[in-house]
Amino acid sequence: MSARGQASAGDLLELVRSGRAVTRGALQQATGLSRATVGQRLDRLFRAGWLREGAGGPVGSPLGGRPSITLEFDDAHAIVLAADLETRHARAAVLTLTGEILAEHSGTLVVEDGPEAVLGDLGRWFAELLEKAGRRAEEVCGIGLAVPGPVDSETGRVVQPPIMPGWDGYDITGRLARAFGEETGAAPVPVLVDNDANLMAYGEQRTGYPDCSAFVLVKVSTGIGAGVVVDGSVYRGIDGGAGDIGHIRVGADAQCRCGSYGCLAAVASGRAVARRLAETGVPAASGSDVRDLLASGHPGAAALAREAGRQVGDVLATVVTLLNPGVLMIAGDLAGTAFLTGVRELLYQRALPRSTAHLDVVTSRLGERAGLIGAGALVVEHLYAPQRVEDRLVALGV
Ligand SMILES: [Zn+2]
Repeated sequence: MSARGQASAGDLLELVRSGRAVTRGALQQATGLSRATVGQRLDRLFRAGWLREGAGGPVGSPLGGRPSITLEFDDAHAIVLAADLETRHARAAVLTLTGEILAEHSGTLVVEDGPEAVLGDLGRWFAELLEKAGRRAEEVCGIGLAVPGPVDSETGRVVQPPIMPGWDGYDITGRLARAFGEETGAAPVPVLVDNDANLMAYGEQRTGYPDCSAFVLVKVSTGIGAGVVVDGSVYRGIDGGAGDIGHIRVGADAQCRCGSYGCLAAVASGRAVARRLAETGVPAASGSDVRDLLASGHPGAAALAREAGRQVGDVLATVVTLLNPGVLMIAGDLAGTAFLTGVRELLYQRALPRSTAHLDVVTSRLGERAGLIGAGALVVEHLYAPQRVEDRLVALGV
């Protein structure tokens, strides 16, 4: 509700979008506004094209009387662009406001080439995807980007990323907005950036576990990171550092990409498993190489993945004890039976029984699309948040 205590148009939209109140009568009841005031506010949302009457027909009203027309968020009035950067690979898509993928592309993009080049390429990808989807750049309301490093959400910049050389403190949002404008000729749109594990967690929680109030996702690909969603929001800590579990010291002597020795990522990431496979003569250099070997049933890869799972499970025993999540999801290149078996072995052995009594340990549902879905949802939740709706309606002239 707004500071004056009266529900705004943004609050009404939020009630409809969340499904908590989807008729005029229910909105009156939820907000205490008069029928006339609800009507005025809804009228602005209709004129903006953000609301429509539901296809399901009239339903009974909580205030009695005639059945009411249901209202729903109009997810066709704008589109979102999203991209998920891995270290050597990226995925990008055009999405509806409710997260349906309209066009998608994945290919090689090397993070080490630096932000200027990588984000310029993404601008070109977006232009091509819009053409493929048959949509206009003017319909885009915002861009979401997942990156493999810690992000300060205040500034949208990555902070001392261990595996993103040249990106520290770089103006990602400015560069990507410029690339989008140069490639499409459209006016600038908001760009939101977050860590990949955070956005995967957000995408998976919203689509698969909307009622889970404490959700943890661990991504084990070339590196290791975790995303935490509490009460439907990503928990980032005070400056985006929450969940960076790959650099917890586990006491081994291997050197990590961050420069330290003995980090979890140095012994249990896709890169670490690939290195150990390469030492035995198996050609592997990255998490995706390990994924391919696991998919082909390679016994050496499976044994090493299980051992990596045990090392990650040991750290997750602490994570689970601290956060008491309902769902612990394992995602990324290593997320398969062997790794999950290893995680379970150590997690249940080391964590208090009370912490794991109601815990589901699962693998990803959205797979490689989780980051895209999460990035799209981040943009929509940002732009249609009650506190931003008023300014945007005024800007639209309604
Ligand atoms: Zn490290």
